Amino acid sequence: MFLEAHKPARWQHPFDDDVDEHALLVGSKAWQRTLHQNGWGAILWPKEFGGRGLGPIEAIIWNQELVRFGLGQSIFVVGTAMAGPTIIAHGTPEQKSRYLEPLARGDEIWCQLFSEPGAGSDLAALSARAVKDGDPRQPAGTFDWVVSGQKTWCSGAHYADFGILLARSDPSVPKHAGITYFLLDMRAPGVEIRPLRQMSGGSHFNDVFLNEVRIPDANRLGPAGAGWGAAMTTLLNERMALGGTGGFFSFDELAAFARAHRERLDGVTRDQLARLYTWNKTLDLLNARVVSKLGRGVIPDAESSVMKLALGRILTLGAELGLRLAGPDALLRRGHWQHQFLTAPSMHIAGGTDEIQKNVVAERVLGLPREPRRDRDVPFDEIPRS
Ligand SMILES: Cc1cc2nc3c(=O)[nH]c(=O)nc-3n(C[C@H](O)[C@H](O)[C@H](O)COP(=O)(O)OP(=O)(O)OC[C@H]3O[C@@H](n4cnc5c(N)ncnc54)[C@H](O)[C@@H]3O)c2cc1C
Repeated sequence: MFLEAHKPARWQHPFDDDVDEHALLVGSKAWQRTLHQNGWGAILWPKEFGGRGLGPIEAIIWNQELVRFGLGQSIFVVGTAMAGPTIIAHGTPEQKSRYLEPLARGDEIWCQLFSEPGAGSDLAALSARAVKDGDPRQPAGTFDWVVSGQKTWCSGAHYADFGILLARSDPSVPKHAGITYFLLDMRAPGVEIRPLRQMSGGSHFNDVFLNEVRIPDANRLGPAGAGWGAAMTTLLNERMALGGTGGFFSFDELAAFARAHRERLDGVTRDQLARLYTWNKTLDLLNARVVSKLGRGVIPDAESSVMKLALGRILTLGAELGLRLAGPDALLRRGHWQHQFLTAPSMHIAGGTDEIQKNVVAERVLGLPREPRRDRDVPFDEIPRS
């Protein structure tokens, strides 16, 4: 009812190649403000912080409805689904009152500054350095940290107001123990953002260089050296936000395209369509299983890894079939299936690569031996690096 009445007339997908960035920002902020005014801005957050105070089941249903109305993927997802819940869980009262309301209201956009050229799957190997500036005995909140390093793959950093940032504050302890979590003002001196051009033609990602950026200690989230725990809160929430096909793929759309191109429906293509339909249904059922587990108060385990693997396969096969059905036309014009074909590979990497998901399935579902983690207890500065 609410979505029918308030749905924006035009909605831009942030990953589109030909996105009009000004229109994207104006439209997304206006929509987030409308959601907030009607109590839908951040449905999982407690009411006291401007949320709706609902649970994960309602969040999944809400996301499915957004997708049904063509409103998946918002530039606010890092803020509402990742930064916000982490600030709620680990922030000081001052941080909560400064950051949560403007975020939920659509005034401030957040990005994620976790990955580095040498730290992605093994995120705890990150090497951006945070050094305390001043007398180490100075009381908390009265000094700055000076942060230097390179972050990469940062979606939307070029239009973000703030970033959630992990940096190494103590290299003399094992890698997971020396990380501190910061809330970074993206306009602080020393923050240099360089957009990366994707093979699809868009520039959704950025390298972010941090050149002796001063971050007030008041912007440290949680205790120094305890950033890994807060990072886990962020990543758990990211995984929940990525459930289902998230609006990236619609079997009905492909089926309609196939009906319009019956002349190219040979035996192989029909067979592949049937396979894709089965995978897509399986993903729906897995989603239902996750919802049912949540309903019983059980936190889903390896299901999210299986779902992520399935989503990558569905997008890749869906795009291949779309191109096959388009025939030679696919080479001549840019269109939906060409875009899908060029972006599908990213779904095998984003939010944890296929190989990492398979490791999870191997260990937690099949009970195979855990991967050796020999550097886990070694001080970070003693781990050999190239
Ligand atoms: C669309 C998209 C959006 C993203 N947005 C952001 C963002 O906003 N902010 C951010 O911080 N990051 C972001 N990322 C980064 C993402 O989290 C990383 O790309 C991902 O974690 C993989 O890390 P990597 O690219 O460094 O690959 P690597 O970890 O270097 O992996 C390279 C290859 O080695 C394999 N591999 C690595 N370790 C193992 C292992 N233990 N066992 C088996 N195989 C292994 C991998 O599967 C992969 O094939 C984004 C990525 C994508 C694609």
